[in-house]
Amino acid sequence: MELFAVPDLPEIREGDDLAALIDDAVDLREDDVLCVASTVVSKAEGRAFDLDDFPPSSRATAIADRLSAITGEEKDPRFAQAVLEESTKLLMKAPFLLTVTDFGHIGVNAGIDRSNVPDSDLLLLPERPSESAERLRERLPIDRVVVTDTCGRPFRHGQRGVAIGWAGMPASRDWRGERDRDGREMGVTVQNVIDELAAAANLVAGEGAGGTPAVVVRDWAFGDHEGSDNHFRAVESDFVRQALEEWQYEA
Ligand code: GDP
Ligand code: MN
Ligand code: MN
Repeated sequence: MELFAVPDLPEIREGDDLAALIDDAVDLREDDVLCVASTVVSKAEGRAFDLDDFPPSSRATAIADRLSAITGEEKDPRFAQAVLEESTKLLMKAPFLLTVTDFGHIGVNAGIDRSNVPDSDLLLLPERPSESAERLRERLPIDRVVVTDTCGRPFRHGQRGVAIGWAGMPASRDWRGERDRDGREMGVTVQNVIDELAAAANLVAGEGAGGTPAVVVRDWAFGDHEGSDNHFRAVESDFVRQALEEWQYEA
């Protein structure tokens, strides 16, 4: 398999036809997977806002005040308000905001970005990243699209690319029922291939001023496996999240 960045994409603005820009910049093959950074999907979809678009509620102000006290940095209550508006549930109020978005993704600050947003204060994630992926897919001569974001994760330092939306392929390869090299039937292995593709693509895209938000994955095959579309865990089967919901930050 081979990964390469789509060259020469401009700064993306609201209303830009991202599919046409990508299609013009690269000769896509039908079995390519296109991985696109959510940043440019959001920009094209008009998800850039200013802090003043989020007049803070008393709840947002209380959250920001507590975070300011804990971190020793001035936290903007308008930013807390934006995070609250983008979230269906607040999992951690301190020492940072960890929330569940409407489409099921759990991330710090609801995935709201302040980098690579030249004309506005904030960039929200796409409202429905899998629908964004589907729209791109319909307009491109390929079948498979993954929308990525850079995210931290528990238990490890640093951030990495993850899939927040996908279209045209299953989220996972299900190895259950297949046999390992000892002939033992695998009982639990479900390989989340969209996260793996997102991580590989993010390695090429980078995080800074590179200007390479779209990455083509060429000659990668899902293979002859069962697929599943499970990606974001439901709370009922997420025991780590359940534990977190009982936990309180103590300064
Ligand atoms: P995120 O991981 O989706 O939050 O996106 P990043 O901000 O990390 O950006 C990923 C890549 O896309 C980096 O190479 C950025 O330089 C690039 N990028 C971000 N916005 C734009 C844009 O509007 N146009 C172009 N050409 N590249 C961009
Ligand atoms: Mn991001
Ligand atoms: Mn990134």
